[in-house]
Amino acid sequence: MSQVLPGDALPVHDLIGIGFGPSNVAMAIALSEHNARAGGQGAISARFFEQQPRFGWHRGMLIDDATMQVSFLKDLVTLRNPASEFSFLCYLQSKGRLIDFINHKNLFPLRVEFHDYLEWAAAKVEGMASYGHEVVGVAPVLCDDAVEYLDVTVRSEEGLEVHRARNLVIGTGLRPFMPEGVERGDRVWHTSELLAKAGQLEGTSPSRFIVVGAGQSAAENVAYLHRRFPGAEVCAVFSRYGYSPADDSGFANRIFDPAAVDDYFAAPEDVKRRLMDYHGNTNYSVVDIDLIDDLYRQTYREKVLGAERLRFLNVSRITEVKETPAQVRATVRSLVTGEETFLDADVVVFATGYSPVDPIGLLGEAAGHCLRDDEGRVRVERDYRVATDPGLRCGIYLQGGTEHTHGITSSLLSNTAIRVGEILDSLLDRGVTSASTEAMTY
Ligand SMILES: Cc1cc2nc3c(=O)[nH]c(=O)nc-3n(C[C@H](O)[C@H](O)[C@H](O)COP(=O)(O)OP(=O)(O)OC[C@H]3O[C@@H](n4cnc5c(N)ncnc54)[C@H](O)[C@@H]3O)c2cc1C
Repeated sequence: MSQVLPGDALPVHDLIGIGFGPSNVAMAIALSEHNARAGGQGAISARFFEQQPRFGWHRGMLIDDATMQVSFLKDLVTLRNPASEFSFLCYLQSKGRLIDFINHKNLFPLRVEFHDYLEWAAAKVEGMASYGHEVVGVAPVLCDDAVEYLDVTVRSEEGLEVHRARNLVIGTGLRPFMPEGVERGDRVWHTSELLAKAGQLEGTSPSRFIVVGAGQSAAENVAYLHRRFPGAEVCAVFSRYGYSPADDSGFANRIFDPAAVDDYFAAPEDVKRRLMDYHGNTNYSVVDIDLIDDLYRQTYREKVLGAERLRFLNVSRITEVKETPAQVRATVRSLVTGEETFLDADVVVFATGYSPVDPIGLLGEAAGHCLRDDEGRVRVERDYRVATDPGLRCGIYLQGGTEHTHGITSSLLSNTAIRVGEILDSLLDRGVTSASTEAMTY
Protein backbone atom coordinates (compact mmCIF):
# COMPACT_ATOMS: atom_id res chain seq x y z
CA MET A 1 0.00 0.00 0.00
CA SER A 2 1.55 3.34 -0.97
CA GLN A 3 1.22 6.57 0.98
CA VAL A 4 0.54 9.90 -0.72
CA LEU A 5 3.51 12.11 -0.04
CA PRO A 6 3.91 15.86 -0.45
CA GLY A 7 5.11 16.47 -3.99
CA ASP A 8 3.59 13.26 -5.29
CA ALA A 9 2.85 14.43 -8.81
CA LEU A 10 0.85 11.56 -10.30
CA PRO A 11 -2.21 13.16 -11.94
CA VAL A 12 -5.51 11.89 -10.57
CA HIS A 13 -8.25 10.72 -12.92
CA ASP A 14 -11.79 11.01 -11.61
CA LEU A 15 -12.48 7.64 -13.16
CA ILE A 16 -10.45 4.80 -14.64
CA GLY A 17 -12.29 2.19 -16.66
CA ILE A 18 -10.88 -1.32 -16.97
CA GLY A 19 -11.92 -2.86 -20.30
CA PHE A 20 -13.40 -0.99 -23.26
CA GLY A 21 -16.11 -3.34 -24.44
CA PRO A 22 -19.69 -2.15 -25.00
CA SER A 23 -20.30 -1.50 -21.27
CA ASN A 24 -17.39 0.89 -20.83
CA VAL A 25 -17.81 2.44 -24.28
CA ALA A 26 -21.35 3.32 -23.12
CA MET A 27 -19.80 4.73 -19.92
CA ALA A 28 -17.38 6.88 -21.93
CA ILE A 29 -20.29 8.17 -24.03
CA ALA A 30 -22.35 9.04 -20.94
CA LEU A 31 -19.32 10.91 -19.56
CA SER A 32 -18.68 12.77 -22.81
CA GLU A 33 -22.33 13.81 -23.02
CA HIS A 34 -22.20 14.96 -19.39
CA ASN A 35 -18.93 16.85 -19.93
CA ALA A 36 -20.35 18.61 -22.99
CA ARG A 37 -23.33 19.76 -20.87
CA ALA A 38 -21.38 20.62 -17.73
CA GLY A 39 -18.45 22.48 -19.29
CA GLY A 40 -14.95 22.67 -17.75
CA GLN A 41 -15.93 23.14 -14.10
CA GLY A 42 -18.16 20.11 -13.78
CA ALA A 43 -16.36 17.84 -16.24
CA ILE A 44 -15.35 14.36 -15.13
CA SER A 45 -11.91 13.21 -16.26
CA ALA A 46 -11.68 9.58 -17.31
CA ARG A 47 -9.36 7.09 -18.97
CA PHE A 48 -10.25 3.60 -20.15
CA PHE A 49 -7.74 0.78 -20.66
CA GLU A 50 -8.40 -2.02 -23.13
CA GLN A 51 -6.09 -4.99 -23.61
CA GLN A 52 -7.06 -5.62 -27.25
CA PRO A 53 -5.08 -3.68 -29.86
CA ARG A 54 -8.31 -2.13 -31.22
CA PHE A 55 -12.01 -2.24 -30.45
CA GLY A 56 -13.47 -5.74 -30.78
CA TRP A 57 -16.72 -7.31 -29.61
CA HIS A 58 -16.68 -11.13 -29.72
CA ARG A 59 -14.90 -11.05 -33.09
CA GLY A 60 -14.56 -14.83 -33.13
CA MET A 61 -18.34 -15.16 -33.43
CA LEU A 62 -19.05 -12.52 -36.07
CA ILE A 63 -20.67 -15.12 -38.32
CA ASP A 64 -21.91 -13.26 -41.38
CA ASP A 65 -25.60 -14.24 -41.02
CA ALA A 66 -25.86 -14.18 -37.21
CA THR A 67 -28.25 -11.59 -35.81
CA MET A 68 -28.48 -9.70 -32.54
CA GLN A 69 -30.45 -11.15 -29.65
CA VAL A 70 -31.51 -7.69 -28.57
CA SER A 71 -33.44 -4.89 -30.22
CA PHE A 72 -31.29 -2.20 -31.87
CA LEU A 73 -33.17 0.26 -29.65
CA LYS A 74 -31.24 -1.21 -26.73
CA ASP A 75 -28.06 0.29 -28.14
CA LEU A 76 -25.45 2.12 -26.07
CA VAL A 77 -27.59 5.21 -25.43
CA THR A 78 -31.21 5.26 -26.57
CA LEU A 79 -32.92 4.10 -23.37
CA ARG A 80 -31.02 6.78 -21.43
CA ASN A 81 -31.01 9.53 -24.04
CA PRO A 82 -33.14 8.92 -27.14
CA ALA A 83 -31.76 12.14 -28.67
CA SER A 84 -28.12 11.02 -28.42
CA GLU A 85 -25.87 11.34 -31.45
CA PHE A 86 -24.35 7.95 -30.48
CA SER A 87 -27.48 5.93 -31.29
CA PHE A 88 -27.75 3.05 -33.74
CA LEU A 89 -30.08 5.22 -35.83
CA CYS A 90 -27.45 7.99 -36.07
CA TYR A 91 -24.91 5.33 -37.03
CA LEU A 92 -27.22 4.12 -39.81
CA GLN A 93 -27.70 7.66 -41.04
CA SER A 94 -23.94 8.25 -41.10
CA LYS A 95 -23.55 5.09 -43.22
CA GLY A 96 -26.36 6.08 -45.62
CA ARG A 97 -28.46 3.03 -44.70
CA LEU A 98 -31.21 4.53 -42.52
CA ILE A 99 -33.99 4.22 -45.08
CA ASP A 100 -32.88 0.74 -46.14
CA PHE A 101 -32.90 -0.41 -42.54
CA ILE A 102 -36.40 0.99 -42.03
CA ASN A 103 -37.68 -0.83 -45.13
CA HIS A 104 -36.17 -3.99 -43.70
CA LYS A 105 -38.78 -3.83 -40.82
CA ASN A 106 -36.41 -5.56 -38.46
CA LEU A 107 -35.51 -4.90 -34.83
CA PHE A 108 -32.55 -7.30 -34.79
CA PRO A 109 -29.59 -6.20 -36.94
CA LEU A 110 -26.85 -8.52 -38.12
CA ARG A 111 -24.18 -9.05 -35.48
CA VAL A 112 -21.54 -7.78 -37.92
CA GLU A 113 -23.56 -4.61 -38.41
CA PHE A 114 -23.95 -4.07 -34.67
CA HIS A 115 -20.22 -4.65 -34.28
CA ASP A 116 -19.63 -1.95 -36.86
CA TYR A 117 -21.97 0.34 -34.87
CA LEU A 118 -20.08 -0.37 -31.63
CA GLU A 119 -16.77 0.30 -33.39
CA TRP A 120 -18.15 3.57 -34.81
CA ALA A 121 -19.35 4.66 -31.36
CA ALA A 122 -16.08 3.64 -29.69
CA ALA A 123 -14.11 5.65 -32.28
CA LYS A 124 -16.10 8.78 -31.37
CA VAL A 125 -14.85 8.59 -27.76
CA GLU A 126 -11.46 6.99 -28.36
CA GLY A 127 -9.75 10.08 -26.97
CA MET A 128 -10.58 8.61 -23.55
CA ALA A 129 -9.28 5.12 -24.36
CA SER A 130 -5.88 3.41 -24.52
CA TYR A 131 -5.89 0.21 -26.59
CA GLY A 132 -3.19 -2.42 -26.22
CA HIS A 133 -3.13 -1.65 -22.49
CA GLU A 134 -3.86 -4.49 -20.08
CA VAL A 135 -4.60 -3.68 -16.46
CA VAL A 136 -2.46 -6.04 -14.42
CA GLY A 137 -2.91 -4.73 -10.90
CA VAL A 138 -4.52 -2.20 -8.61
CA ALA A 139 -2.98 -0.86 -5.40
CA PRO A 140 -4.62 1.24 -2.71
CA VAL A 141 -3.13 4.64 -1.91
CA LEU A 142 -3.51 5.81 1.70
CA CYS A 143 -4.23 9.38 2.61
CA ASP A 144 -5.07 10.28 6.24
CA ASP A 145 -5.48 6.60 7.18
CA ALA A 146 -8.05 5.87 4.48
CA VAL A 147 -7.68 4.68 0.91
CA GLU A 148 -8.41 7.79 -1.12
CA TYR A 149 -7.05 6.67 -4.49
CA LEU A 150 -6.32 3.53 -6.42
CA ASP A 151 -3.13 3.13 -8.45
CA VAL A 152 -3.81 1.12 -11.58
CA THR A 153 -0.85 -0.68 -13.16
CA VAL A 154 -1.13 -1.09 -16.90
CA ARG A 155 1.03 -3.19 -19.22
CA SER A 156 1.57 -2.21 -22.85
CA GLU A 157 4.28 -2.66 -25.48
CA GLU A 158 6.09 0.27 -23.87
CA GLY A 159 6.22 -1.49 -20.50
CA LEU A 160 4.41 -0.78 -17.22
CA GLU A 161 2.69 2.49 -16.34
CA VAL A 162 0.81 3.54 -13.23
CA HIS A 163 -2.32 5.71 -13.32
CA ARG A 164 -4.13 7.06 -10.26
CA ALA A 165 -7.90 7.25 -9.88
CA ARG A 166 -10.53 8.20 -7.36
CA ASN A 167 -12.99 5.75 -8.93
CA LEU A 168 -12.82 2.59 -10.95
CA VAL A 169 -15.39 1.10 -13.25
CA ILE A 170 -14.63 -2.53 -14.00
CA GLY A 171 -16.11 -3.78 -17.29
CA THR A 172 -13.92 -6.76 -18.09
CA GLY A 173 -16.66 -9.09 -19.36
CA LEU A 174 -16.83 -12.86 -19.09
CA ARG A 175 -14.21 -15.57 -19.65
CA PRO A 176 -14.65 -18.49 -22.08
CA PHE A 177 -15.53 -21.62 -20.09
CA MET A 178 -14.06 -25.05 -20.89
CA PRO A 179 -15.17 -28.16 -18.99
CA GLU A 180 -12.77 -29.33 -16.30
CA GLY A 181 -9.83 -31.27 -17.67
CA VAL A 182 -10.27 -30.10 -21.27
CA GLU A 183 -7.42 -28.02 -22.67
CA ARG A 184 -7.76 -25.84 -25.74
CA GLY A 185 -5.48 -26.78 -28.65
CA ASP A 186 -5.18 -26.77 -32.44
CA ARG A 187 -8.08 -29.22 -32.68
CA VAL A 188 -9.93 -28.40 -29.48
CA TRP A 189 -11.53 -24.98 -29.71
CA HIS A 190 -13.77 -22.78 -27.65
CA THR A 191 -16.52 -21.19 -29.70
CA SER A 192 -15.13 -17.70 -28.96
CA GLU A 193 -12.26 -18.47 -31.40
CA LEU A 194 -14.43 -20.04 -34.10
CA LEU A 195 -13.78 -17.71 -37.05
CA ALA A 196 -10.03 -17.36 -36.51
CA LYS A 197 -9.55 -21.11 -36.11
CA ALA A 198 -11.90 -22.06 -38.95
CA GLY A 199 -9.96 -19.68 -41.20
CA GLN A 200 -6.82 -21.72 -40.54
CA LEU A 201 -8.56 -24.79 -42.02
CA GLU A 202 -9.01 -23.04 -45.35
CA GLY A 203 -7.62 -25.24 -48.13
CA THR A 204 -7.90 -28.43 -46.07
CA SER A 205 -10.75 -30.94 -46.32
CA PRO A 206 -11.99 -31.67 -42.80
CA SER A 207 -14.28 -34.67 -42.62
CA ARG A 208 -15.88 -34.31 -39.19
CA PHE A 209 -16.54 -31.62 -36.59
CA ILE A 210 -18.02 -32.20 -33.15
CA VAL A 211 -19.84 -29.31 -31.48
CA VAL A 212 -20.54 -29.61 -27.75
CA GLY A 213 -23.47 -27.71 -26.24
CA ALA A 214 -27.08 -26.77 -26.91
CA GLY A 215 -27.15 -23.00 -26.55
CA GLN A 216 -27.27 -20.25 -29.17
CA SER A 217 -23.53 -20.34 -29.87
CA ALA A 218 -23.56 -24.13 -30.22
CA ALA A 219 -26.39 -24.05 -32.75
CA GLU A 220 -24.69 -21.22 -34.65
CA ASN A 221 -21.45 -23.26 -34.77
CA VAL A 222 -23.27 -26.30 -36.13
CA ALA A 223 -24.99 -24.27 -38.86
CA TYR A 224 -21.81 -22.36 -39.73
CA LEU A 225 -19.45 -25.37 -39.94
CA HIS A 226 -22.04 -27.32 -41.94
CA ARG A 227 -22.33 -24.47 -44.43
CA ARG A 228 -18.61 -23.56 -44.62
CA PHE A 229 -17.26 -27.11 -44.98
CA PRO A 230 -19.61 -28.89 -47.40
CA GLY A 231 -17.55 -32.09 -47.29
CA ALA A 232 -17.72 -32.46 -43.52
CA GLU A 233 -20.11 -34.16 -41.14
CA VAL A 234 -21.11 -32.05 -38.13
CA CYS A 235 -22.03 -33.91 -34.93
CA ALA A 236 -23.81 -31.96 -32.22
CA VAL A 237 -23.44 -33.49 -28.75
CA PHE A 238 -25.62 -32.29 -25.89
CA SER A 239 -27.31 -33.60 -22.79
CA ARG A 240 -30.75 -32.15 -23.64
CA TYR A 241 -33.25 -34.01 -25.79
CA GLY A 242 -33.29 -31.21 -28.33
CA TYR A 243 -32.56 -27.50 -28.70
CA SER A 244 -34.96 -25.35 -26.64
CA PRO A 245 -36.24 -22.03 -28.01
CA ALA A 246 -35.39 -18.73 -26.35
CA ASP A 247 -38.44 -17.16 -24.74
CA ASP A 248 -38.57 -13.69 -26.27
CA SER A 249 -42.28 -13.11 -25.73
CA GLY A 250 -43.35 -9.68 -24.54
CA PHE A 251 -44.15 -10.38 -20.89
CA ALA A 252 -41.08 -12.54 -20.27
CA ASN A 253 -38.90 -9.96 -22.02
CA ARG A 254 -39.73 -7.53 -19.22
CA ILE A 255 -37.10 -9.34 -17.15
CA PHE A 256 -34.59 -7.22 -19.15
CA ASP A 257 -36.34 -3.92 -18.34
CA PRO A 258 -34.63 -1.25 -16.25
CA ALA A 259 -37.48 -1.61 -13.70
CA ALA A 260 -36.69 -5.32 -13.36
CA VAL A 261 -33.32 -4.35 -11.89
CA ASP A 262 -35.10 -2.46 -9.08
CA ASP A 263 -37.40 -5.42 -8.43
CA TYR A 264 -34.59 -7.96 -8.51
CA PHE A 265 -32.34 -5.86 -6.30
CA ALA A 266 -35.07 -5.47 -3.67
CA ALA A 267 -36.29 -9.10 -3.77
CA PRO A 268 -35.41 -11.61 -1.04
CA GLU A 269 -32.78 -14.21 -1.94
CA ASP A 270 -35.26 -17.05 -2.56
CA VAL A 271 -37.33 -14.86 -4.91
CA LYS A 272 -34.17 -13.85 -6.79
CA ARG A 273 -33.37 -17.53 -7.28
CA ARG A 274 -36.91 -18.28 -8.41
CA LEU A 275 -36.84 -15.42 -10.94
CA MET A 276 -33.62 -16.77 -12.45
CA ASP A 277 -35.18 -20.26 -12.60
CA TYR A 278 -38.37 -18.97 -14.25
CA HIS A 279 -36.67 -16.71 -16.76
CA GLY A 280 -33.22 -18.21 -17.37
CA ASN A 281 -34.71 -19.50 -20.63
CA THR A 282 -34.82 -15.96 -22.00
CA ASN A 283 -31.02 -16.14 -22.28
CA TYR A 284 -29.27 -19.28 -21.05
CA SER A 285 -28.95 -22.60 -22.97
CA VAL A 286 -31.59 -21.57 -25.48
CA VAL A 287 -31.62 -20.93 -29.22
CA ASP A 288 -33.51 -18.58 -31.55
CA ILE A 289 -36.53 -20.45 -32.87
CA ASP A 290 -35.69 -19.50 -36.48
CA LEU A 291 -32.29 -21.15 -36.20
CA ILE A 292 -33.81 -24.27 -34.62
CA ASP A 293 -36.28 -24.47 -37.50
CA ASP A 294 -33.50 -23.99 -40.09
CA LEU A 295 -31.43 -26.79 -38.57
CA TYR A 296 -34.42 -29.10 -38.37
CA ARG A 297 -35.37 -28.41 -41.99
CA GLN A 298 -31.78 -29.09 -43.03
CA THR A 299 -31.50 -32.38 -41.18
CA TYR A 300 -34.86 -33.57 -42.53
CA ARG A 301 -33.87 -32.63 -46.09
CA GLU A 302 -30.65 -34.65 -45.70
CA LYS A 303 -32.65 -37.62 -44.45
CA VAL A 304 -34.88 -37.47 -47.50
CA LEU A 305 -31.93 -37.11 -49.87
CA GLY A 306 -30.00 -39.87 -48.14
CA ALA A 307 -26.81 -37.90 -47.57
CA GLU A 308 -26.74 -37.03 -43.91
CA ARG A 309 -24.05 -34.60 -42.77
CA LEU A 310 -25.84 -33.32 -39.66
CA ARG A 311 -25.96 -35.66 -36.67
CA PHE A 312 -27.48 -34.93 -33.27
CA LEU A 313 -26.17 -37.04 -30.38
CA ASN A 314 -28.68 -35.98 -27.76
CA VAL A 315 -28.89 -37.02 -24.09
CA SER A 316 -25.14 -37.52 -24.34
CA ARG A 317 -22.02 -36.08 -22.85
CA ILE A 318 -18.36 -35.92 -23.92
CA THR A 319 -16.33 -37.60 -21.19
CA GLU A 320 -12.86 -37.44 -22.72
CA VAL A 321 -11.06 -35.64 -25.50
CA LYS A 322 -7.66 -36.78 -26.76
CA GLU A 323 -5.87 -34.59 -29.27
CA THR A 324 -3.11 -35.85 -31.55
CA PRO A 325 -1.43 -33.93 -34.37
CA ALA A 326 -3.62 -35.76 -36.94
CA GLN A 327 -7.03 -35.80 -35.25
CA VAL A 328 -8.99 -35.59 -32.04
CA ARG A 329 -10.80 -38.53 -30.45
CA ALA A 330 -13.86 -37.79 -28.31
CA THR A 331 -15.52 -40.28 -26.00
CA VAL A 332 -19.28 -39.73 -26.06
CA ARG A 333 -21.35 -41.31 -23.28
CA SER A 334 -25.07 -41.86 -23.69
CA LEU A 335 -26.85 -40.62 -20.57
CA VAL A 336 -29.64 -43.13 -21.32
CA THR A 337 -27.64 -46.36 -21.54
CA GLY A 338 -24.19 -45.35 -20.29
CA GLU A 339 -22.75 -46.76 -23.51
CA GLU A 340 -19.54 -45.07 -24.70
CA THR A 341 -18.79 -44.35 -28.34
CA PHE A 342 -15.52 -43.06 -29.79
CA LEU A 343 -15.77 -40.35 -32.40
CA ASP A 344 -12.72 -39.31 -34.39
CA ALA A 345 -12.88 -35.78 -35.73
CA ASP A 346 -10.79 -33.00 -37.19
CA VAL A 347 -11.99 -30.58 -34.52
CA VAL A 348 -14.12 -30.49 -31.35
CA VAL A 349 -15.67 -27.10 -30.62
CA PHE A 350 -16.77 -26.46 -27.05
CA ALA A 351 -19.76 -24.12 -27.03
CA THR A 352 -19.86 -24.42 -23.28
CA GLY A 353 -20.43 -20.78 -22.50
CA TYR A 354 -18.65 -18.17 -20.43
CA SER A 355 -18.05 -17.83 -16.73
CA PRO A 356 -18.01 -14.68 -14.64
CA VAL A 357 -14.62 -13.52 -13.43
CA ASP A 358 -14.46 -12.38 -9.81
CA PRO A 359 -14.20 -8.64 -10.45
CA ILE A 360 -12.41 -8.19 -7.18
CA GLY A 361 -9.58 -10.44 -8.38
CA LEU A 362 -7.75 -7.50 -9.95
CA LEU A 363 -7.91 -5.33 -6.86
CA GLY A 364 -4.97 -6.70 -4.88
CA GLU A 365 -4.84 -5.31 -1.35
CA ALA A 366 -7.84 -3.09 -2.01
CA ALA A 367 -9.95 -6.26 -2.22
CA GLY A 368 -9.62 -6.60 1.53
CA HIS A 369 -11.83 -3.51 1.92
CA CYS A 370 -14.64 -4.98 -0.22
CA LEU A 371 -17.53 -6.57 1.65
CA ARG A 372 -18.95 -9.99 0.80
CA ASP A 373 -22.31 -11.61 1.55
CA ASP A 374 -22.94 -14.83 3.47
CA GLU A 375 -22.21 -16.85 0.34
CA GLY A 376 -18.89 -15.09 -0.26
CA ARG A 377 -20.19 -13.03 -3.19
CA VAL A 378 -19.24 -9.39 -3.58
CA ARG A 379 -21.78 -7.04 -2.01
CA VAL A 380 -22.86 -4.44 -4.55
CA GLU A 381 -25.09 -1.40 -3.92
CA ARG A 382 -27.98 -0.43 -6.20
CA ASP A 383 -25.73 2.14 -7.94
CA TYR A 384 -23.37 -0.73 -8.94
CA ARG A 385 -20.78 0.42 -6.39
CA VAL A 386 -19.02 -2.34 -4.46
CA ALA A 387 -19.86 -2.07 -0.76
CA THR A 388 -16.62 -1.35 1.11
CA ASP A 389 -15.55 -0.73 4.69
CA PRO A 390 -15.00 2.90 5.76
CA GLY A 391 -11.26 2.47 5.24
CA LEU A 392 -11.75 2.82 1.47
CA ARG A 393 -13.27 6.05 0.25
CA CYS A 394 -12.97 5.66 -3.52
CA GLY A 395 -15.70 4.18 -5.64
CA ILE A 396 -15.37 0.78 -7.31
CA TYR A 397 -18.21 0.26 -9.78
CA LEU A 398 -19.03 -2.97 -11.58
CA GLN A 399 -20.39 -3.41 -15.08
CA GLY A 400 -20.92 -7.15 -15.09
CA GLY A 401 -20.47 -9.63 -12.28
CA THR A 402 -23.65 -8.40 -10.59
CA GLU A 403 -26.15 -11.07 -11.61
CA HIS A 404 -26.60 -12.09 -7.96
CA THR A 405 -27.62 -8.55 -6.99
CA HIS A 406 -28.99 -6.86 -10.14
CA GLY A 407 -30.30 -9.78 -12.18
CA ILE A 408 -30.02 -11.27 -15.62
CA THR A 409 -29.06 -8.09 -17.51
CA SER A 410 -25.74 -7.92 -15.66
CA SER A 411 -23.70 -9.39 -18.53
CA LEU A 412 -25.98 -8.32 -21.39
CA LEU A 413 -26.47 -5.24 -23.54
CA SER A 414 -30.17 -4.71 -22.66
CA ASN A 415 -29.65 -2.38 -19.72
CA THR A 416 -26.24 -0.90 -20.53
CA ALA A 417 -27.46 2.57 -21.46
CA ILE A 418 -29.45 2.93 -18.24
CA ARG A 419 -26.75 1.35 -16.05
CA VAL A 420 -24.05 3.82 -17.12
CA GLY A 421 -26.47 6.70 -16.47
CA GLU A 422 -26.98 5.37 -12.95
CA ILE A 423 -23.22 5.07 -12.39
CA LEU A 424 -22.75 8.63 -13.67
CA ASP A 425 -25.46 9.90 -11.29
CA SER A 426 -23.75 8.11 -8.43
CA LEU A 427 -20.40 9.73 -9.28
CA LEU A 428 -22.04 13.14 -9.41
CA ASP A 429 -23.97 12.58 -6.16
CA ARG A 430 -20.68 11.76 -4.48
CA GLY A 431 -19.22 15.04 -5.69
CA VAL A 432 -16.62 13.61 -8.05
CA THR A 433 -15.50 16.20 -10.54
CA SER A 434 -12.19 17.32 -11.98
CA ALA A 435 -12.59 20.62 -10.20
CA SER A 436 -12.33 18.86 -6.84
CA THR A 437 -9.33 16.72 -7.85
CA GLU A 438 -7.43 19.62 -9.33
CA ALA A 439 -7.88 21.54 -6.11
CA MET A 440 -6.04 18.80 -4.25
CA THR A 441 -2.25 19.17 -4.40
CA TYR A 442 0.33 17.19 -2.52
C1 LIG B 1 -21.20 -14.35 -29.44
C2 LIG B 1 -21.91 -13.49 -28.44
C3 LIG B 1 -23.05 -12.79 -28.82
C4 LIG B 1 -23.73 -12.00 -27.91
N1 LIG B 1 -24.84 -11.35 -28.32
C5 LIG B 1 -25.53 -10.62 -27.43
C6 LIG B 1 -26.73 -9.95 -27.82
O1 LIG B 1 -27.17 -10.05 -28.98
N2 LIG B 1 -27.39 -9.22 -26.90
C7 LIG B 1 -26.92 -9.11 -25.62
O2 LIG B 1 -27.54 -8.41 -24.82
N3 LIG B 1 -25.79 -9.72 -25.22
C8 LIG B 1 -25.10 -10.49 -26.08
N4 LIG B 1 -23.96 -11.12 -25.67
C9 LIG B 1 -23.51 -10.97 -24.26
C10 LIG B 1 -22.24 -10.08 -24.09
O3 LIG B 1 -21.70 -10.33 -22.84
C11 LIG B 1 -22.53 -8.62 -24.21
O4 LIG B 1 -22.99 -8.39 -25.50
C12 LIG B 1 -21.32 -7.67 -24.07
O5 LIG B 1 -20.16 -8.23 -24.62
C13 LIG B 1 -21.04 -7.17 -22.67
O6 LIG B 1 -20.14 -6.10 -22.79
P1 LIG B 1 -18.98 -5.82 -21.74
O7 LIG B 1 -18.31 -4.58 -22.17
O8 LIG B 1 -19.54 -5.86 -20.37
O9 LIG B 1 -18.01 -7.08 -21.85
P2 LIG B 1 -17.07 -7.51 -23.07
O10 LIG B 1 -17.74 -7.29 -24.36
O11 LIG B 1 -16.60 -8.89 -22.75
O12 LIG B 1 -15.84 -6.51 -22.97
C14 LIG B 1 -14.89 -6.58 -21.93
C15 LIG B 1 -13.59 -5.96 -22.45
O13 LIG B 1 -12.67 -5.88 -21.38
C16 LIG B 1 -11.38 -6.19 -21.87
N5 LIG B 1 -10.54 -6.60 -20.73
C17 LIG B 1 -10.72 -7.69 -19.95
N6 LIG B 1 -9.77 -7.72 -18.98
C18 LIG B 1 -8.99 -6.62 -19.15
C19 LIG B 1 -7.86 -6.10 -18.48
N7 LIG B 1 -7.33 -6.69 -17.39
N8 LIG B 1 -7.28 -4.96 -18.93
C20 LIG B 1 -7.81 -4.31 -20.02
N9 LIG B 1 -8.88 -4.79 -20.71
C21 LIG B 1 -9.47 -5.90 -20.27
C22 LIG B 1 -11.64 -7.28 -22.90
O14 LIG B 1 -10.57 -7.37 -23.83
C23 LIG B 1 -12.93 -6.81 -23.54
O15 LIG B 1 -12.73 -6.01 -24.68
C24 LIG B 1 -23.27 -11.92 -26.56
C25 LIG B 1 -22.14 -12.63 -26.18
C26 LIG B 1 -21.48 -13.40 -27.10
C27 LIG B 1 -20.27 -14.18 -26.65
